[in-house]
Amino acid sequence: MRTAAQDAGAPDEVRAIVDHDLCAGVTQCLRMAPGAFQLDEDQLSVFAPSGPWTFEQLAAARDNCPMAAIILLAGPGRATLQDPPLRYTE
Ligand code: SF4
Repeated sequence: MRTAAQDAGAPDEVRAIVDHDLCAGVTQCLRMAPGAFQLDEDQLSVFAPSGPWTFEQLAAARDNCPMAAIILLAGPGRATLQDPPLRYTE
């Protein structure tokens, strides 16, 4: 499976973070992006940067998280890939 960096048209250096104040361990992200997320010892989702995953899978996980807990970041400045944008930037 190709990584996000290899996906045609995908932003460079894509990463995901999970806001553990919001995550409820519903595991929708594990179904939408197998290889990108796993549950930690508290049953909260954490991102696995080494994959395998695709940008489309990450975007699907973000868009389908019932708690809106997944934030995608890209590029050297780690700009957020949210729509609507930027809950976590000032
Ligand atoms: S889908 Fe959202 S709430 Fe559910 S485990 Fe993943 S990040 Fe947490």
